[in-house]
Amino acid sequence: MAPEDNYWNRRMETLSREEISSLQLKKLRGILEICSHSPYYRRIFKEEKIDPSRIEDFDDLRRIPFTDKNILRENPSTDFLAVPREEIIRLHSTSGTTGQAIVIYYTRSDIQTWAEMIARCMYMNGVRRGDVFQNMIGYGLFTGGLGFHYGAELVGVLTIPSGAGNSRRQIQLMREHGTTVAHVIPSYALLLTEVFEEMGLDPREDTNLRILFIGAEPHSEDMRQRIEEIYGVDAYNSYGLTEMNGPGVAFECPHKQGMHLWEDHYILEVIDPQTLERVPEGEEGELVLTTLSREGMPILRYRTRDLASVIPGECPCGRKHRRISRIKGRSDDMFIIKGVNVFPLQVEEVLMKTLGVGSNYQIHLERVGVREEMKVLVEVTGELWHGNPSELRALQERIRENLRSAILLTPLVELVEAGSITKSEGKAVRVVDKRGNF
Ligand code: AMP
Ligand code: ZN
Repeated sequence: MAPEDNYWNRRMETLSREEISSLQLKKLRGILEICSHSPYYRRIFKEEKIDPSRIEDFDDLRRIPFTDKNILRENPSTDFLAVPREEIIRLHSTSGTTGQAIVIYYTRSDIQTWAEMIARCMYMNGVRRGDVFQNMIGYGLFTGGLGFHYGAELVGVLTIPSGAGNSRRQIQLMREHGTTVAHVIPSYALLLTEVFEEMGLDPREDTNLRILFIGAEPHSEDMRQRIEEIYGVDAYNSYGLTEMNGPGVAFECPHKQGMHLWEDHYILEVIDPQTLERVPEGEEGELVLTTLSREGMPILRYRTRDLASVIPGECPCGRKHRRISRIKGRSDDMFIIKGVNVFPLQVEEVLMKTLGVGSNYQIHLERVGVREEMKVLVEVTGELWHGNPSELRALQERIRENLRSAILLTPLVELVEAGSITKSEGKAVRVVDKRGNF
């Protein structure tokens, strides 16, 4: 596709670096002014003696303290409101599985801005009127459903709000309405392939799918390629988090070389999570984001805990909004076993490269006597499971070896039948830590 054909918001998507910087600075001043109406930031500005009108450049931004998950949890969510409550027309919330849920409020204009961001993401990858979009992700408090829904309607595609789960129904809907584009959590996209198989259908041949938007959880490049092959589609990585709206924060363009972060709506900093200093471009660190467009609940310097790096250089698509690398995971996804730091994604990279590995896996951390053990449960394809046991043993050995060289630790590997690991309709549960407190 010619690049000039895929701008939803040509003005914003074609800004030069200089234009982005000056726009950011202008919007930053505006947002700081808005923040001074929020009880929380008003307090912080006072405590830290910050005069928002004296923030002159991005270096001055460093004088503003970070906001993090705990701060959002410990303070009443209404303390972050920068507009009267009557201006709020929607709220979303995090799942709260790791503590008190965080509530985010949106004004009408916030919802419109968010929809516009998603529209850009979809449009730049070729979604057009006439497409049929199936939004196979949780609706309700989770931002993935309604976020994409409004963006898709803005683009003007027929939108099927199918929500998460209900796999057979998803497939029936796809076939009945000729779904061409879908939004799905990557682990679920793989699990769904088993249901296609049970129904005697081939996702490549028996659907009209051509584009998948995959996101909401860490996944490897090999996982993407596997999904693209099985479905015969282009799959694009989609990044976002509730605290920053939800999906649409950063998104891959047709070149699939990192995700453009919409810098007219967010200021991005990448910091070393230990020293809290900014790291040089290209180095991995924690993403810190400042909302530039949110009027209901602006958040300054939010520590996402997500680890990634800025990809140096320009994207061939011409957009100058900086690109972030694939997210390695949240800093709290990392586990330590036998003194070794491991990210679940490192395990996934090995598994997805290995022929014979099925759609699901899970890492169990156990304590056996005084020893800690890491066991990787790996589903294998039906063919292999029912085939020659020596091939299974060889696969087990291969996985163990490859994991050893990737994570410098030899885990136990248990091959299991397809479908035996508990399926998740939402984000996959990759690690089950049964070690307890010692
Ligand atoms: P939630 O607020 O529940 O939607 O969760 C947001 C979190 O999901 C982010 O902070 C990331 O840790 C993770 N996440 C979202 N999108 C992606 C993605 N494309 N790749 C990796 N992790 C992601
Ligand atoms: Zn690009």
